[in-house]
Amino acid sequence: MSRYVGPSCRLCRREGIKLFLKGERCYTEKCAIEKRNYPPGVHVETRGKFLEYGLRLREKQRLRRMYGLSEKQFKRFFEMAERKQGITGTNFLILLERRIDNMVFRLGFATSRKEARQLVSHSHILVNGRKVSTPSFLIKPGDEISVKHKDLPSVKNALESVVRRGIPSWIELDKDNMKGTIKLLPTRDDITMPIKEQLIVEYYSR
Ligand code: SF4
Repeated sequence: MSRYVGPSCRLCRREGIKLFLKGERCYTEKCAIEKRNYPPGVHVETRGKFLEYGLRLREKQRLRRMYGLSEKQFKRFFEMAERKQGITGTNFLILLERRIDNMVFRLGFATSRKEARQLVSHSHILVNGRKVSTPSFLIKPGDEISVKHKDLPSVKNALESVVRRGIPSWIELDKDNMKGTIKLLPTRDDITMPIKEQLIVEYYSR
């Protein structure tokens, strides 16, 4: 499946939640969800309520779009989660959080996951001092993530507003040295996004 190149805010309006796809703008009153929180398109009010399949599909699309993954990449992660011991839905969310592009976003080196993915694929990110250019690379507890060139303007700008976006408790940021450490893996309670992962499990189990 090809990557979506249309307007990002349209995706948020379609899903009815903030997916945080546009960096700083998402935290201002310019956010389309703040101004027009209804689905895009005409005849919106005449659309019926979702049936069960529709609910599961929407939940899956929400999470997939939040992380900016193609259907193929998303499903591959879901299958990895299924093979692990424990609750598949929780495993899935934790695996997505462990992606290096997500970590770069969480640490505040980028204002969106899309920007973070670009930093990784352009080889600006180091894990334990070694270059990593694969956005799907999975971090583990104890890993240190740093920025190769400390004078990158995009990273400096992103870090300026990191406090407003918030840093999860399971990672530690050393803002001055542009590096972060993974203290431990997140638990389900640490993942505060409004996602009902059980619906996604049911979607793929149909
Ligand atoms: Fe979504 Fe950000 Fe656009 Fe708001 S500004 S609608 S959160 S992409």
